[in-house]
Amino acid sequence: MAQEVHFARQLVQSATDIAVVTHIRPDGDAIGSLLGLGLALAASGKSVQMISGDGVPSTFRFLAGSDRIRTHLEELSGSLDLIVVVDASELSRTGTVLDGYPSPHINIDHHPTNTNFAGINLVEVSAVACAEMIALLLPELGLQIDKPVAEALLAGMLTDTIGFRTNNMTTRALNVATSLMEKGANLSEIYQKVLLQRSFQAMRFWGSGLSNLQRDGRIVWTALTMEDRKNAGYPGRDDADLINILSSISDTDISLIFVEQPDGNVKVSWRAVDNIDVSGVAQWFGGGGHRAAAGATMPGPLAEAQKSVLEVTRKLTFSSK
Ligand code: 5GP
Ligand code: MN
Repeated sequence: MAQEVHFARQLVQSATDIAVVTHIRPDGDAIGSLLGLGLALAASGKSVQMISGDGVPSTFRFLAGSDRIRTHLEELSGSLDLIVVVDASELSRTGTVLDGYPSPHINIDHHPTNTNFAGINLVEVSAVACAEMIALLLPELGLQIDKPVAEALLAGMLTDTIGFRTNNMTTRALNVATSLMEKGANLSEIYQKVLLQRSFQAMRFWGSGLSNLQRDGRIVWTALTMEDRKNAGYPGRDDADLINILSSISDTDISLIFVEQPDGNVKVSWRAVDNIDVSGVAQWFGGGGHRAAAGATMPGPLAEAQKSVLEVTRKLTFSSK
């Protein structure tokens, strides 16, 4: 990757008008990576647009600079000379924000399902978060890590590892986290804000999902309907991270959640234990992700999506055993 990093550095150094773009339905790593790279570029004097097609979830709005994130590129972006996409394995994961623009120059990502869609693809699957990669890349790109950058990157690392407890954790990741703390990021405060605090509405939404929990052998799942969302008063389109709770159920190999979307589609999330790979099942349904955590969006109705996903999940993950 050394050669690619060298090219990326040249592109970054010579660019003046830069867009950094992250994936739709952004999680903490998406926002942390976007802000980490975007703020570092801005601090070096570049003109930077930080773009998240779906905006910034309220959980991450405490991060300095998050108010500078926009949902669209500015009209006059004819002068854009560098487009960087972060934490997205495919161009389609950026939504429609890059429609009509040249294909991205640089992609920084850690998903094994990455399709190498950019000119320069910095893809490292052993990184626990895209934010970890960015923390390591910034000095190589000639950019500084100040306190807001460190906070954003630590938030990204914490969320993708659910507080440094996923099975892909490495000593390198902990060392990177240490260096971000040394730059001023407050671990316990960021941990509280991105992983522990929940709105009252989110808790009520969890309640609906938990009361409908199902199990078949070593698979557990639940669904969150639009009705559940309305009753709870929960604003987002996501599962309020309920999947992370399901994945802590003992004697279980795979947990799934089905989240009904306003457009009738169904967002599916898979989580798996160590020796099971769910990224292939997610890809089968047009999605992607990691061995232990993957997702896809598919057509409804909910009951049918649920039936076929459970069937294929059983087939693809257990048949070869
Ligand atoms: P989640 O289920 O929490 O949304 O996502 C789990 C993992 O799967 C994340 O790494 C996320 O980026 C990836 N993922 C989720 N949905 C999709 C999708 O529709 N397409 C692709 N390629 N990856 C997805
Ligand atoms: Mn990520």
